[in-house]
Amino acid sequence: AKEIGRDAVQVFTFELAARAHEKLERQEELRRALAQTEFFLQYQPQMDLVTGRIFAVEALIRWRHPERGIVSPGEFIPLAEETGLIGPIGDWTLRTACRQNKAWQLSGLPPIVVSVNVSARQFQERDWVERVAAALEESGLEARYLELELTESLIMEDVQQAVETMHRLEQLGVHLAIDDFGTGYSSLSSLKRFPVGRLKIDRSFVKDLPGDSDDAAIATAVISLGHLLQLRVIAEGVETREQLDFLRAAGCDEIQGYYISRPIDAMALQALLCLPHC
Ligand code: C2E
Ligand code: CA
Ligand code: CA
Ligand code: CA
Repeated sequence: AKEIGRDAVQVFTFELAARAHEKLERQEELRRALAQTEFFLQYQPQMDLVTGRIFAVEALIRWRHPERGIVSPGEFIPLAEETGLIGPIGDWTLRTACRQNKAWQLSGLPPIVVSVNVSARQFQERDWVERVAAALEESGLEARYLELELTESLIMEDVQQAVETMHRLEQLGVHLAIDDFGTGYSSLSSLKRFPVGRLKIDRSFVKDLPGDSDDAAIATAVISLGHLLQLRVIAEGVETREQLDFLRAAGCDEIQGYYISRPIDAMALQALLCLPHC
């Protein structure tokens, strides 16, 4: 038994060391990816359910890894958050999205809003508002064409501080949205204090629509709640005509999802926006 025990300990420490080593390697890779710009953004259209117009896009980061191919954000954003690399990566995303949106405008497309995801670590940086202002200034993009997507959990970590930062962002003129709405736990009274313009219903409540009666009730309730607070409500992850019809009937304002378009490269988005006009 003693022998087995010792082996087990050795295996255990070996595995721990290997895992720590792998994490360090991943971290190094992320640093390199940032230095050599292996990241790129894709953009997913958001459609107004009344006008049928694409009025905004969400910027979504991807990593073109030299050996592993395209890596999705779910696989590296958590590590970036853990190591603090989310700061510079988030700056890159913000600046790239602003620059791209300005470039679309300069090419003659009807102006749209670009929506950027924000991590808690980023949002809590002391100079975060200045960084947003710098990205706008550097790109020449007007603030009203930028939206920041904040999650409930990010806001609830320190509500007082978050509301203060949100007011400063509002003063800059950027739009704010609450992402993944319904998965966190913001209370009604706190929701009322947030200077946000939109609620984004999480995909988990959309994917089983219209069949799942719980999800149907939740989606309908979120839409009513949003409208009571005079917010626009967008549903993410819409994949089917049936989901779209349900959401429209429930009064949802906007949708985003594969049914409209997958996230696509900037060039493809330009072509898509051009369709009805050019
Ligand atoms: P999210 O903000 O909830 O973004 C929506 C995710 O759902 C995206 O996954 C999008 O590609 C996917 N999606 C959109 N429509 C559909 C659909 O109809 N069906 C299905 N099955 N999926 C759909 P993605 O691009 O893999 O991003 C995952 C998460 O990574 C995002 O979730 C967001 O939290 C985070 N993320 C992405 N880009 C950034 C970024 O630049 N910064 C930060 N901090 N986080 C990011
Ligand atoms: Ca989002
Ligand atoms: Ca989501
Ligand atoms: Ca259910």
